[in-house]
Amino acid sequence: MTPPVDKDSGKASNFLRHVIENDLERGVYAARKWGGNPGDAQHHAQGMQDPARVRTRFPPEPNGYLHIGHAKSIWLNFELAKEYGGVCHLRFDDTNPEKEEQEYVDSIRDAVKWLGYETYLADHPSAPSTLQPHEYFASDYFDFMYRAAEYLITAGLAYVDEQTPDEMRGTRGDFNTPGTDSPFRARSPDENLARFRQMREGKLDDGAAILRARIDMASPNINMRDPALYRIRRATHHNTGDKWCIYPMYTYAHPIEDALEQITHSIATLEFEDQRPFYDWLLHRLAEGGLIASPHPRQYEFARLNVTHVITSKRKLRQLVEERHVDGWDDPRMPTLAGLRRRGYTPEALKLFCERSGVTRSGGWIDYGSLEAALRDTLDPTAPRAMVVLDPVKLVITDWAELMGSDSLLDDCTAPVNPRDPEAGMRRFKIGREVWIERTDYEDVQPKGFFRLFPGNKVRLKYGHTIACTGATRDAGGKLLEVQATLVPDTKSGTPGADAVKVKGNITWVAIADAVPVEVRLYERLFAAEQPGSGELLDELNKQSLMTCSAFAEPSLAAAKVGGAGFQFERHGYFVVDEKAAEDGKPVFNRAAGMRDSRGK
Ligand code: ATP
Ligand code: MG
Repeated sequence: MTPPVDKDSGKASNFLRHVIENDLERGVYAARKWGGNPGDAQHHAQGMQDPARVRTRFPPEPNGYLHIGHAKSIWLNFELAKEYGGVCHLRFDDTNPEKEEQEYVDSIRDAVKWLGYETYLADHPSAPSTLQPHEYFASDYFDFMYRAAEYLITAGLAYVDEQTPDEMRGTRGDFNTPGTDSPFRARSPDENLARFRQMREGKLDDGAAILRARIDMASPNINMRDPALYRIRRATHHNTGDKWCIYPMYTYAHPIEDALEQITHSIATLEFEDQRPFYDWLLHRLAEGGLIASPHPRQYEFARLNVTHVITSKRKLRQLVEERHVDGWDDPRMPTLAGLRRRGYTPEALKLFCERSGVTRSGGWIDYGSLEAALRDTLDPTAPRAMVVLDPVKLVITDWAELMGSDSLLDDCTAPVNPRDPEAGMRRFKIGREVWIERTDYEDVQPKGFFRLFPGNKVRLKYGHTIACTGATRDAGGKLLEVQATLVPDTKSGTPGADAVKVKGNITWVAIADAVPVEVRLYERLFAAEQPGSGELLDELNKQSLMTCSAFAEPSLAAAKVGGAGFQFERHGYFVVDEKAAEDGKPVFNRAAGMRDSRGK
């Protein structure tokens, strides 16, 4: 799918810009007023004195590592805040204690920092005195959420339902049938309040009762048929410990979190569209009761990011990790931000990809190739080049001593670090009688369109000399052991007349004398299916997504460091040093992307 382009700006479409500009023009949030009970003092203390400011939030549930889809949401929320002089809150939506862990909180924090948005968590120059300004936990609002629930009960807007889960399902109705009222729906506010307090005090068993909003069991929108607000769950929470045995439902908690933080534009994916009426209902009621400021935040939905051959579901990604189909959350094949980073993706590339994919209300699948294209487009101007032979076979220049004086003599070669950036300087390496070349650069008989090594053909060793292939040696099984060639005199790159002998092939190589042994890992798609996620997860997996090469690199790569910029291995694509693996001092490189979209459609 090709993302749509905005007619005015020429940029990829982002309808949310229009929404925000319109709101700013009309001063919608400038008039925001608190009611009688201005929530927790904490929210005023945290630099919220400017209610007109655009405030977005990124609200992950800390139940797994973030993935490429979250990058889109992070990019969108933080960039909109940046563009309109606002702030973006990082909020951990931790209302589900059984599935959440500190490890995930830490990894999410790392991902946001890595993407470069840490500073946009700060409100204004005087505010960021703490390390993590505008970082919030939904669980910090549990007291407020509880008070708000008691308010709803007192106002006759919520009730404790003690039907069994089966009975509740049975009375909810479906798309064609309205629901029917619970026998508990008519309880008095006093009775409900007493019962809710018993829930909180642990006097009822898990699952014995829930608190529900009292809205309309016949609503055509099933989400409005008295949705659950609180459930009983005896679980230890990573933040609040055992303080609570009742926990708010996500649909109840989320609007309140937005309201307390004075979010202006609450951006969600389209699955939440049907929840919007409840979002508005709840915040209207709480504003009427003076519990939150008015006007309250609004929810806007956009189509989630889907990338071909990629799964974007924390649950399914967790399955891959737990069942050891991949080597952890940061396996370079994983579409997690930790995996993409280890693979060699940069924040710049991911942001460019997010920008190019647009923000619309109609979904689609973005081709994986456009992720790779964004990486190439951002790395190409700066990435140092290097020659690396991935599948090495020895090439012997048999007449080297005759022309160069001695078999052991080495000649100096130079090449630009980056031909697009002359200031980056030159790299230096040797050429000698024996060099490593790619196994696939030799054929006994010339295939159609093949201009590299075959007996009788001349090619240039890039940045070195032109050679003429004379033959090759194979073992009894036919395996190529060695290729032989002779030097074509006076053809050294950079010397006068070097190009007098025209050749059609130009191959990469490294001299055996100064080659650095390295391990190179090439990755294929983790999922063979183009649109994975609909079928059985394991059937969709590509069983051969990792290929390891014992390669040889030019000497400039001996200094390559973990965390350094990516390299372009000439002909092979973009690579980085793997953050974790370094076997017996031998550096390991991951291929982030090939030179072009070789995998086609
Ligand atoms: P998952 O199903 O992978 O757990 P989620 O949406 O449940 O994803 P959250 O932690 O709730 O995960 O997501 C945080 C934010 O990221 C939400 O605002 C959500 O809308 C957004 N988000 C998640 N996946 C995508 C996606 N593929 N494209 C755009 N935004 C996404
Ligand atoms: Mg989720």
